[in-house]
Amino acid sequence: MMRQEKILLTPGPLSTSLATRTAMLKDWGSWDGDFNALTASVCADLLAIANGQAQHCCIPLQGSGTFAVEAAIGTLVSKSSKILVLNNGAYGQRMQKIAQKIGLNVATLSWPDGVPVDPAALDAALSADPSIGYVGLIHCETATGLLNPLSDIADIVASHGAELIVDAMSSFGALDIDLARMPICALIAASGKCLEGVPGMGFVIAKTSAIALAHGNSPSLALDLADQYDYLQRTGQWRFTPPTHVVAALRAAIDQYQAEGGRLTRLARYTANAKVLIESLSQAGLALFLAPELQAPIILTFHAPRHPEYQFAAFYQAMSQRGFLLYPGKLTTVETFRVGCIGAIDPAQLQQAAHAIIDVLTQLGWLNSQPKHSTIQ
Ligand SMILES: *Cc1c(COP(=O)(O)O)cnc(C)c1O
Repeated sequence: MMRQEKILLTPGPLSTSLATRTAMLKDWGSWDGDFNALTASVCADLLAIANGQAQHCCIPLQGSGTFAVEAAIGTLVSKSSKILVLNNGAYGQRMQKIAQKIGLNVATLSWPDGVPVDPAALDAALSADPSIGYVGLIHCETATGLLNPLSDIADIVASHGAELIVDAMSSFGALDIDLARMPICALIAASGKCLEGVPGMGFVIAKTSAIALAHGNSPSLALDLADQYDYLQRTGQWRFTPPTHVVAALRAAIDQYQAEGGRLTRLARYTANAKVLIESLSQAGLALFLAPELQAPIILTFHAPRHPEYQFAAFYQAMSQRGFLLYPGKLTTVETFRVGCIGAIDPAQLQQAAHAIIDVLTQLGWLNSQPKHSTIQ
């Protein structure tokens, strides 16, 4: 009997299409002109998705998304300046930690999990401290699924003459980010999120003028984006071994993204995925952690059932046996679990996942589900 592959509700890695995985069956030489053309075409398309052709460039980087965040902060922020990190979750905290590790002057504005960045508080902080030259923001805080008000924040940062660096890891390609309309110095994202490639490559879409001024900033050799960009410009090649199969898979994933209809079509599918989950689970008595108006259709955080014996590990195992992989909660004060809406998955699969969640929790005795409609099959 054929074993069905598991559906990853863990963004990311996430479920990818057969076409994307098939694109990895060929080996590429890193000196090969064909591979250089592949890199160039991927970077050009990423830049176009952000509408950044006028003033920005796209710099690819080996590694997971965090490598690209560390590279962007280390390359763009000069030691003589200061970065203000806007923190309302685990990824904001990680950005703060990265900036501190690099040895930068770091200020932080924090909000509790589930509370969006307050543009007025940011405005006041920038007025109070003119030495802040950079602001770091997480667009969609994947720890909860919260969407921060990017456009308002970008305008405020620009009005103070500061530069905005955005971790758009879990939003790029699906949510509205328009570099022609929003004053943003740099966007950071990766292959294996809303673009539905495989993990292994990050990229930074940065103002070309900012990269030109950034030589000598980075305390790291491998994570120096100014050097990476220079080398790419001069030779068409990556510095150091490129993740060839990841680039090929991303090329195929972007082809499918474009064929599917681009950003709005992708957003519509993710929105439909999220809707199915929210409706089914809330009917069964599982409450969303966030207020609905703050929720991005990327990853959903649900309160765990209020049962004294609830354990995520057992829940995870039972769901895995049903063919679905979940994410644990990432909050310290409340017991939660997370379900991703992104990847090559559609509402029918999310409906099956919702049924499985309700069924498993009911069987484990942790959910007393008396659904209003019959949601259990
Ligand atoms: C996925 C993600 C990252 C990168 O995480 P890695 O584990 O390094 O890939 C960074 N920021 C956000 C908001 C993310 O969702």
